[in-house]
Amino acid sequence: MKLTFHGAAREVTGSCHQVEVQDANGKTHQYLFDCGMFQGEHMCGSKNKDHFKFDPAMIEAVFVSHPHADHTGRLAKIVSEGFRGPIYMVEPCVGLSKLVLEDAHHIMKEEAEKCGSEMLYEMEDVNRAFEQVKAVSYHEHLQVAPGIVVMFHEAGHVLGSAYISIDAPADAYALAGREGKRLVYSGDIGNDNVPILPDTEPMSHADVVICESTYGHREHEPIEQRSRLLKEAIVHIIHDRGVLMIPAFSIERTQELLYEIDQLLQKDLKTKIPIFLDSPMAIRATELYRQYQNYLKFDAPLVAQPDRDFFSFPNLRETFSREESKTINDTTPPMIIIAGSGMMSGGRIMHHLRRYLPDHKNRLLIIGYVAKGTLGRRIYEGAKQVKIFGDDIPVHAHVSAIGAFSAHGDMNKLTRWLRPEDGKVPKKIFLVHGDPEAKEVFATHLRHTFGTEVVIPEYQSTYEA
Ligand SMILES: [Zn+2]
Repeated sequence: MKLTFHGAAREVTGSCHQVEVQDANGKTHQYLFDCGMFQGEHMCGSKNKDHFKFDPAMIEAVFVSHPHADHTGRLAKIVSEGFRGPIYMVEPCVGLSKLVLEDAHHIMKEEAEKCGSEMLYEMEDVNRAFEQVKAVSYHEHLQVAPGIVVMFHEAGHVLGSAYISIDAPADAYALAGREGKRLVYSGDIGNDNVPILPDTEPMSHADVVICESTYGHREHEPIEQRSRLLKEAIVHIIHDRGVLMIPAFSIERTQELLYEIDQLLQKDLKTKIPIFLDSPMAIRATELYRQYQNYLKFDAPLVAQPDRDFFSFPNLRETFSREESKTINDTTPPMIIIAGSGMMSGGRIMHHLRRYLPDHKNRLLIIGYVAKGTLGRRIYEGAKQVKIFGDDIPVHAHVSAIGAFSAHGDMNKLTRWLRPEDGKVPKKIFLVHGDPEAKEVFATHLRHTFGTEVVIPEYQSTYEA
């Protein structure tokens, strides 16, 4: 087996890992795990524009772990460069990935018009890619070549997310005088006790693991913190008659937030305060969450009331069109506004920030990762004045952050997941999808805990696995 890392090596985004594996007859096959975009200030950054360092026509299949753009964003590009094989993903991931690629295309087009940058792909390529998509179920045995079986397992990161195993059975390999191997690719591993998603499935065994390391260097605050801090923020704005702004990622974070708010309103806070979901993409993603409720975790209250739609409680108002969105301006506070983008780097949240940041009665609650260089990061780090649409806006609103909404497992969770049920730790672990510092800390921790070989691969380098 050979592995080459075409992204998310010594950085978080751009996941795209090539595996070369021999079948029972000794024939070599090439596959990809994910084909994601490098994300930063601009979509059309140089690495996204680079030609793939492999021939896309030679790749036989792509296995997609989950819909986030850093795992799916270059699917349309690889298709435009000649890849014609199947793209496998778990059923709910299909609709969500389509939303993500269409949204990325929309943003690229805006960037292209503004600064003349090149498009990575066109809508025809997106449509073509989705003609190649094949939906699979968890635990379905995909025999992709003689003796090579691929399987998707619940990762608990977003709706339909998976970690993926490739098995080459020992007896088939024994014929050719080689030992069989199981390679597991983590995709993104979810946090513990996410209220709406099933738990991450334990790993049964693995010889080699490609593992994410986003939060491999730290421990998250306890999950109970999130409803406590959220409740505090809502109580404050009701008292002060203010506006609570929550910038949120459209997939998963928004739905978890809606679930938490619904629970709070039902149990602790009896209030009629309006809650605006002001993001067309989040509204469409939430619709897919409704459609695939059978992939969600149903806890006690929902089992008791199976017909209850916990994403559309009475206070919630979805503002899809621009006109509907403008009605928020005429609403008298208190109110809650959930809008994208999560990092405050664009989208409708910008209009709300411009309007409501200057008033000390209002609040901004940051629940997701805010990358360096974004407006979200500047506000998070305490800027007293920021520039929005060319205007200087004073930040008088109260700003706070909740880390417990993270969609990624921390060091403890990843370590537990890497310890398979059969007790045999993987012989080799490749760490991807993390900042260099997170990877170094996590690698040292794993070498110490498991006594196994841990590799931090270089971009576009090939390793024997
Ligand atoms: Zn992800």
